[in-house]
Amino acid sequence: MKRLSKADQFLLESIQRGDERSWNEFVDRFQGRLLAFARQRLRDREAAEDVVQETFIACLRGLQQFRGDSGLETYLFVILRRKIIDHLRGRKLNLCLMQDTMGADDASYSATETLAVDPVTGASWYAKGEERREAQHGALTTAVTEAIEKYKDALDFRALMLTELLFYCGAPAPQIAAMMDEPEPTIRTFKRRWLQRIAARAQELAGEEFAQVDADTWRTDESVDSLLRDTWQTQRLSCPKRNTIGAYLLGSLDEPWAEYVKFHIEHLGCHFCRANLDDLKAAADEAEQQRLHERILNSTVGFLKQA
Ligand SMILES: [Zn+2]
Repeated sequence: MKRLSKADQFLLESIQRGDERSWNEFVDRFQGRLLAFARQRLRDREAAEDVVQETFIACLRGLQQFRGDSGLETYLFVILRRKIIDHLRGRKLNLCLMQDTMGADDASYSATETLAVDPVTGASWYAKGEERREAQHGALTTAVTEAIEKYKDALDFRALMLTELLFYCGAPAPQIAAMMDEPEPTIRTFKRRWLQRIAARAQELAGEEFAQVDADTWRTDESVDSLLRDTWQTQRLSCPKRNTIGAYLLGSLDEPWAEYVKFHIEHLGCHFCRANLDDLKAAADEAEQQRLHERILNSTVGFLKQA
């Protein structure tokens, strides 16, 4: 699946040719949100800046192998996340505020890091020789993306919120039931049917061979569950676009979109999107400061000449 826009493709090609201005533009565009993300996880500003710097270095070193099957931001966040985990000496990194509060009782939650980019040895989404896993992820990504798009088109945000709670966040059913004010069996049924539908669609997409090879994977809900969570987390399948978050910040996002984005950022507490929001806020503050600066200069220049 190609997700890179023409403009981004062009930018990357310039960077690969060693064009400094393009690299400058690239760093400028992403450093704020990466730093905001790192600062949520690492209290120390200096340490946060270090991991962001390391992320850009790793990104450059792995750029030749970047296949463009994710967006640039997702690519960078995957590297950054790995760098932070390294920094925290292998500790797992929760992606949602809700996961932060779920704590140790969620033993089933263990996102594997193996499918993520290894920027040093070559930025491939999947380890070499793991073609089967790649096929699984590819089919799952498409199946889930289709389901999410359907919800968004139909403005069925309640279903989308449920799937995010279940599969992105991995929250336990009782917690979701309380949060969404639904009986627990309803949540479990929703989850089971959703998994069945996604599994069927993924098999359809990946063909016979996939269905046979991975019969074991699909047999138990649990393994599909963790595969799904891996895919969701590394590809950020349901995260709203940056300009949607921008519109939310400005209060110009219509309902029910606004309510959904609020849920995703504040209740689910997606750390990636929170980082984007923080970065957009900082940029807005800077623009405000700049505007005030210019206003003061413009209004005082006459007096300055008279002084
Ligand atoms: Zn998000």
